[in-house]
Amino acid sequence: MAWYSREPDSLLPSLNIVSTNAYRGRFAPSPTGPLHFGSLVAAVGSYLDARTQGGVWLVRMEDVDTPRNVAGAADAILNTLEVFGFEWDGPVLYQSNRFDAYAAALAQLQGAGLAYGCACSRKEIADSATRPAIDGGLAYPGTCRTGLPAGREARAWRLRVNDEEIAFADRLQGRVAQHLESDVGDFVLRRADGLFAYQLAVTVDDDFQQISQVVRGADLLASTPRQIWLQRCLGFATPSYAHLPVAANAAGEKLSKQTLARPLASDIAAAELVRALDFLGQAAPAELAQATVAEVWAWALKNWSFEAIPRQPAIIVPLA
Ligand code: GLU
Repeated sequence: MAWYSREPDSLLPSLNIVSTNAYRGRFAPSPTGPLHFGSLVAAVGSYLDARTQGGVWLVRMEDVDTPRNVAGAADAILNTLEVFGFEWDGPVLYQSNRFDAYAAALAQLQGAGLAYGCACSRKEIADSATRPAIDGGLAYPGTCRTGLPAGREARAWRLRVNDEEIAFADRLQGRVAQHLESDVGDFVLRRADGLFAYQLAVTVDDDFQQISQVVRGADLLASTPRQIWLQRCLGFATPSYAHLPVAANAAGEKLSKQTLARPLASDIAAAELVRALDFLGQAAPAELAQATVAEVWAWALKNWSFEAIPRQPAIIVPLA
């Protein structure tokens, strides 16, 4: 029997773990501004984990949320990566070219009765939700789960979740578990503005690019159970995950374009790389900051220790 003809609740293909001897990693920046220290940490961590295991390392431009894209940012990010000495495999994948693949995945989920149209406005959700969601906002209360209210049209498409525990063993953060129904609620796959949601795009693309190891910032830790649920619903394998500590300011906020972290300075690329290595617990010799970018990479590739990475979701750094 085809998997999609089963009842939604029994639709749980077992978790396949992608073979680790075909390491395929990726760095997936969003072109919402220039690269900053936090993105450099994710790039360095995923690059060194891949390359020291003879793995492939891909760059994917996550420009699916078009209103948030900043003109010129994608090219500026790729230029910075080049100046910083990253060498990626194959062409860069742009999510803005992947509309058909996301539409096909959504159609598959609709066909299986797993995705449903939702008419709720933000205000209606705010007025009816009773629980906070695990990563901010409100858990969707399921209003349109059993059908659209009379006379209403679907604005967004949501994925049905259930209350089983979704757990995985993160290589750095240990066991992570969520009950999607209470922690998140049925979540959006296609937004009211017609754009596909990050959770769908990232899941479809990690599968398309056959990513075996996701190494990224711990700010995405709370998204991972949603992505694993989507993988199961779509019949995809689940990669292994390592969530690196993120750089935070003294107020505990992640350094991001929103908190105005300064862009990386290309004229001191070696020093910036050494700072990222130190952040990842790699104890690079201080004099490397004055060396060339090639020398920094030679040291890092030889001395990289995954075990030395701090096993915590955030580390406070001075805003430099
Ligand atoms: N595009 C996301 C970001 O820049 C990263 C997504 C991911 O690594 O899965 O935060």
